[in-house]
Amino acid sequence: MTAIYPGSFDPLTNGHLDIIARASRLVDHLVVAILQNFQKEPLFSVGERAEMLLESTSNIANVEVDSFSGLLVDYADARSARAIIRGIRAISDYEIELQMALINRRLRPKTETIFLMAGEEYSFVSSRMVKEIITLNGDVSSFVPPTVAIRLLRKMKLENRPPAAASAL
Ligand code: ADP
Repeated sequence: MTAIYPGSFDPLTNGHLDIIARASRLVDHLVVAILQNFQKEPLFSVGERAEMLLESTSNIANVEVDSFSGLLVDYADARSARAIIRGIRAISDYEIELQMALINRRLRPKTETIFLMAGEEYSFVSSRMVKEIITLNGDVSSFVPPTVAIRLLRKMKLENRPPAAASAL
């Protein structure tokens, strides 16, 4: 059975990796698919995000990294995937995830969405928080794989970003 784990992965976090490891043990083939979202301004290009995913999942044999645009259910069809994997961190994720799962079911009844619970040690980790912490010169090494931490630091130096003026952190 092939399943798709779609997301922005901008950047990949240890929470995403936890879901990838769990899903890879459930299915024969797991396609981690980077959504090319033209509305959001990403920090990392799709190519950079794919490299970070490849570097961090090279030890898991049945994981493939790909990218897609357009409707997720069309992409799932094209990849002959019967299931979509999504991660749930807290109740707050559930509402939007439920809505997306039900829409996808209406669009393609044969494609099932499978929710996996994040490990509790990652349940508060999000790409958005990681980006905010690095912008404020904080240490993100416990939230992301080493390759991501290095690339985040490099990107901040390249862009020579001044610390954000105000933040909740
Ligand atoms: P989005 O599609 O909202 O940009 P992300 O790329 O951040 O989502 O995440 C893709 C999927 O991974 C979503 O199902 C999201 O709920 C899940 N996810 C994100 N962070 C974590 C985490 N720390 N633990 C478990 N699942 C997570």
